[in-house]
Amino acid sequence: MELTTWNIPVLALRGLTVFPHMNITFDVERPISIAALSRAMETDQEIFLVTQKEIGTAVPGEKDLYRVGTVSHISQVLRVSEGSVRVMVEGGRRARMKRLWQSEPFLQANVEALPEQKESEAFLNSPRTEALLRQTAVLFEEYAGKVSNLPDGVKAQVLESRDPGYLADFLAQNVQLRAEERQSILEETSAYVRLRKLNEFLARENDVLAFEGEMESKVRSQLARSQREQILRAQIRVMQSELGESEDGDEELDEYRMRILRLDLSEDTEAHLMKEVDKLGKQPYSSAESAVIRNYLDVCLEMPWNTVTRERLNVEAARKILDKDHFGLEKVKQRIVETIAVRQMNPEGKGQILCLVGPPGVGKTSIAVSVAKALNRKLARLSLGGVRDEADIRGHRKTYIGSMPGRIIEAISRSKSMNPLLLLDEIDKLGSDFRGDPASALLEVLDSEQNHAFRDHFMEIPVDLSRVMFITTANTTDTIPRPLLDRMEVIQLGSYTDEEKLQIARNHLIPKQMKEHGLKKSQLKIDDGAIRALIRDYTRESGVRILERRIAALCRKADLNLLTGETKRVAVVEADLHGLLDMSPYPPALYSEREEVGVVNGLAWTEVGGEILEVEANVMDGTGKLELTGNLGDVMKESVQAALSCLRSRTAVYDIDPEFYKNKDIHVHFPEGAVPKDGPSAGIAVATALCSALTGRKVRAGIAMTGEITLRGRVLAIGGLKEKTMAALRSGVKTVLIPADNVRDLEQIDQTVRAALEFIPVGNVDEVLSRALCPAFARSRAEKTAEQEQTVVAAFSPVRETGGDALRQ
Ligand code: ADP
Repeated sequence: MELTTWNIPVLALRGLTVFPHMNITFDVERPISIAALSRAMETDQEIFLVTQKEIGTAVPGEKDLYRVGTVSHISQVLRVSEGSVRVMVEGGRRARMKRLWQSEPFLQANVEALPEQKESEAFLNSPRTEALLRQTAVLFEEYAGKVSNLPDGVKAQVLESRDPGYLADFLAQNVQLRAEERQSILEETSAYVRLRKLNEFLARENDVLAFEGEMESKVRSQLARSQREQILRAQIRVMQSELGESEDGDEELDEYRMRILRLDLSEDTEAHLMKEVDKLGKQPYSSAESAVIRNYLDVCLEMPWNTVTRERLNVEAARKILDKDHFGLEKVKQRIVETIAVRQMNPEGKGQILCLVGPPGVGKTSIAVSVAKALNRKLARLSLGGVRDEADIRGHRKTYIGSMPGRIIEAISRSKSMNPLLLLDEIDKLGSDFRGDPASALLEVLDSEQNHAFRDHFMEIPVDLSRVMFITTANTTDTIPRPLLDRMEVIQLGSYTDEEKLQIARNHLIPKQMKEHGLKKSQLKIDDGAIRALIRDYTRESGVRILERRIAALCRKADLNLLTGETKRVAVVEADLHGLLDMSPYPPALYSEREEVGVVNGLAWTEVGGEILEVEANVMDGTGKLELTGNLGDVMKESVQAALSCLRSRTAVYDIDPEFYKNKDIHVHFPEGAVPKDGPSAGIAVATALCSALTGRKVRAGIAMTGEITLRGRVLAIGGLKEKTMAALRSGVKTVLIPADNVRDLEQIDQTVRAALEFIPVGNVDEVLSRALCPAFARSRAEKTAEQEQTVVAAFSPVRETGGDALRQ
């Protein structure tokens, strides 16, 4: 008699379900399982196989096990290894666990049989069942088509079987289902329902497999493509290496991309550069285009995109640095300190652009260097002298062979920071011609409204210049294009007096040059007398550039003497200079000491400082011709005409032959014919020379003059008084006639100059002539003529150190 419930050892299965009538082999390792098997083997070889809900549970309790399992027959137990046995079982009847009453040393439960619901023959043969069976067959065929690891014979069994209950169990055992699905098949006692359930699961499984297949084929095709690419690339590399080209194309592109990403650029710029990298990737390695793109990328990536130096905005510190580096230059230093103060108060404000104007060697460049130091900005210099092409400023398009970015971008790149101090030298020498106007490009650079997105033709991407500080230098403002000049604040730096030069030499130039020549303080001593003589006799300049060069020459000589062991210490006094410098001193006085007829010292102002400018006039019998020589500009020629007309209206006053313009030829000459001269301020000098030549009255010695003249004899104000008077002093002149309107400018003139010179303000030509000409003596006509016709000998002409351009008066 069959018991409805009975006690039986339990084997908990992990990830496995055993169905009735199925033969299954599996390994067992858990001691409780092995113990359960032993007990079963000792008795009737029957064991209850039930699946545990979680695979991970090591010692399952009642709640960890499903309730329905199979009471199975153990056909064989094999010891595989120490602590592991292989069991072969044959699935028996379905049974339900009523209670798990023992958990040690093995699980034992009280189970009850779970009988199958008997279906009638008629039902099993019904079309419904038939349809279900066919559906199963179709689904299974589909399934079998998709999986590869189906055990042998399974297919045949499925197609042959007409028993829905068995078929469901068989398939549940052999196709891949989820643990819960299997369990639900096992728990279903109705054969028909069981197979229907199984079909559902199988259909879903088929769908899953279809998806999997689709995905797999996608992945596979992608893989195939990338493999193909890899093979192609490998082939390219082989070809490249056979052609002797580099193989690292890919790595190079990646490296470029990495560098671009690392720069953290704006989106547009980054995209632009990435595009270039892609373009590069499409070019043959050693083509001209790829060289162009590579050069372009290198230039762009070398820009110090996000690098800025921390600006030091401290008025006191700046003042200290400026004072330490430079003697004098009060106005300039003050203005620079003010600029820094404004920035300290409002760091975001738009800075003014300073333009330092003055003769060469007065410290324009070096003060800009100090400013950079004071502000802790990097310094980049670029010279605009002779720049005629707009492309010099803005660059050439990168499509041209050998094209490069413009000087602005290049200078910023050189400075290695985005906020350098950019020193634009010689902005007055900017030219322009058919290749475009560099001034307009420069305007964009300097305009704070536009320069936050400056576009260089080469770079193509906008560069922010708004953090750059600009300082420009020039010798004169006259030739700076007007719109540029409007954007800058001009600071004038004047010539130095000898006394100032002495200070500069002693405190700055000599220590600097000694250091550069490796000389210790004790090794070279240049005494003040020698420095003064250097300044007075061996240089003739407004600044201190030549002076510095002379000092360098002395240092060189000292080096040599020390090394050849002649002395341990070199002391330079005035008398040594001639030998050491290997040059004769300049002649001391430039003007004629003698009182002469028809020769007058004018004063000129050039870009390189003031100069004495002689005017010679000669009167001869003739037919009223006027000859002007000495490389004169139009303004100057007109000025001579005006002086002449002015005298003609005064013939009676000065006892001049009223017919002189008909029967005399007049020649006015300005020596140093090679130097172009222009400007109106020689007017009174010309008038004086003419009057002297026409009347035969001598011009007083030691006098120089400057001033424009009108037809009616008024004397008009002139510019550059400071430079002119210093030139006068240098040349040994004692008295200077200046236009009365210029008297207010005397305040700006150096104390030493003012003390050494006598200034005579003059308002009209009569005052000039009465001051400049020696009194007329009653003389015979014959005497007069003889004197007038003498050839006037040129006096000393100024020696020029720094070749100036147009000599302006
Ligand atoms: P610029 O740019 O005006 O032509 P630089 O700046 O090149 O002149 O000056 C020439 C030399 O003279 C530099 O070595 C500079 O240091 C020195 N110098 C000029 N003025 C002074 C000054 N006031 N104090 C100290 N050194 C000076």
